[in-house]
Amino acid sequence: MAKETATKNKKSLIIQPCGGKLVDLRVPPEELAERKAYASKLPSIQVSSRIACDLELLAVGAFSPLDRFMGVEDHRHVVEEMRLSGGHLFPIPITLPVDPGTETKLDADIALRDANNNLLAVMTIEEIYEWDREEVAQKVFRTQDLRHPLVAEMHRWGKHNLSGKLQVLQIPPHFDYQELRMNPQETRQKLLEYGRTNVVAFQTRNPLHRVHEELTKRATQEVDGVLLLHPVVGMTKPGDVDHFTRVRTYKALASRYYDQDRILLALLPLAMRLAGPREALWHALIRRNYGANHIIIGRDHAGPGKDSNGNPIYGPYDAQELVAKHSEELCVKMLPFRSLVYLPDEDRYEEVTKVPEGAQTASISGTQVREEYLNNGVELPQWFTRPEVAEILAESYPPRHRQGVCIWFTGLSGAGKSTIASVLTVLLQENGRHITMLDGDVVRTNLSKGLGFSKEDRDINIRRIGFVAAEIVRHGGIAVCAAVSPYRATRNDVRNLVGKDHYVEVFVDTPLEVCEQRDVKGLYAKARSGEIKGFTGIDDPYEAPHHPEIHLSTVNNTPEKNARLILEYLQEMGFVRHSEMHNE
Ligand code: ADP
Ligand code: ADP
Repeated sequence: MAKETATKNKKSLIIQPCGGKLVDLRVPPEELAERKAYASKLPSIQVSSRIACDLELLAVGAFSPLDRFMGVEDHRHVVEEMRLSGGHLFPIPITLPVDPGTETKLDADIALRDANNNLLAVMTIEEIYEWDREEVAQKVFRTQDLRHPLVAEMHRWGKHNLSGKLQVLQIPPHFDYQELRMNPQETRQKLLEYGRTNVVAFQTRNPLHRVHEELTKRATQEVDGVLLLHPVVGMTKPGDVDHFTRVRTYKALASRYYDQDRILLALLPLAMRLAGPREALWHALIRRNYGANHIIIGRDHAGPGKDSNGNPIYGPYDAQELVAKHSEELCVKMLPFRSLVYLPDEDRYEEVTKVPEGAQTASISGTQVREEYLNNGVELPQWFTRPEVAEILAESYPPRHRQGVCIWFTGLSGAGKSTIASVLTVLLQENGRHITMLDGDVVRTNLSKGLGFSKEDRDINIRRIGFVAAEIVRHGGIAVCAAVSPYRATRNDVRNLVGKDHYVEVFVDTPLEVCEQRDVKGLYAKARSGEIKGFTGIDDPYEAPHHPEIHLSTVNNTPEKNARLILEYLQEMGFVRHSEMHNE
């Protein structure tokens, strides 16, 4: 039985240009029912979305010749010298980290499930080993700086890696854009139909503008090839345009503006690491497995942004150099992405280095696209973005005054949070915005009924409010939240949950004596007499914010004055439109 399957599998394998074969870890259909029944009885671990992405690409051979999460030898060689222990280039560690407490035994089978509990694979545990986070950060990512999203994420990974033979029962299911999801074998087959020797891969995590269109067309023409437009739809950089929106733009662009004989649009469920040069090399290796023999590499390819001192982590051309250096071994040629600018007088694009002297040029940066155009509801010019693409982006990114925002009041009990928040709510409604008010006292009577005032309970309360606020903000509403929220770390978690660009912390800084004097609910008196224990400000700490967006005094200002200060801030930020002039 096993022998038969092996020969069947072999037939469907496609030989790579460099000689290797594509890995295929999927259990053959005829064995699936039996294997699934077996797996459903095994102890299982739930894997993160990053690991689910990695598992999918391992299963279909996108990481060939790698056929498992790395064992200690592969891991060591990859970290040290970008090679598997067998010598094949492989620049990024692909690992399955777990917490030391996880129930794992050597030589035992374990089931891997995704976040929705779908059974994905059976792993026979052959190795359990410790890994060194600092070493990986330094050698692979070249930094320990927590501004590097992967370095920050690694702090939450388990301390032990598991490795061993994988039998994949199911690719993590995807229900979106199924017609564009192709595994390496299917992609190669499709590319063969184009009848051209050269395939140019283009990796992207951003919407494509006219410069990208120009550049990809030129690169493809240069080598008389087909373009494999291969956007990442797994995990990209936090804050990127979501893949649903991006894929709609890619489809519009690919179907209307490219020669259909020269483009294949396919989606890649890759979980990016933003490892700059090493990542570029990895992208090249992956694209080779999908059938490309050229890859376009730009300035600062797969860059993580700046470190906490404001310095770039990798040199702008490190990625190009590294890929070029290994291109022969990988059988993938590096095509440098040359900067193009628009020449308005001639209505064409030209490489920056070839612009005729004295000619006018135009360009718009990614930041300008967001801040000057999309956020203000200004249409992107046609020379910069195809109108179909601009329209999709405008739909998904409404102007600021229709985006959501969370206004988070924090301060002692009786500081004036609720009083100011209710005035603000009315002012915002006057200005055409929809509000949900989440007042601590009110939330505690419904959403958080039953919670007390221990640290754990207070954190749960705040996280619940934060969760609801984040949903409201995502849907374009304003969440006005007023809870004591005494702990800094929890408030920061909420800020991250909502998204820092949509979060305004308002510190209602009323001195304890004043709150105590007001003692609206008589609680301070009870706290002083010991009738209530753990009261914020009396015998439980209040950690004042270090950098609130807005800092209010209720000793010098009336509630209305403070509410108007917040309104002005929101107008400055664009979340509320400036009122019409009244002197018309
Ligand atoms: P919190 O929501 O912060 O617990 P509340 O808004 O419920 O506080 O209570 C604040 C009390 O202080 C209210 O009774 C309010 O009338 C009174 N107060 C007096 N001066 C001010 C001021 N300048 N700003 C806000 N509240 C004030
Ligand atoms: P949080 O959940 O951040 O502690 P809430 O605003 O939900 O804050 O609840 C605080 C309110 O509950 C206070 O305004 C006060 O009226 C009341 N309260 C009752 N016991 C306590 C306590 N031990 N510490 C603070 N507030 C308390």
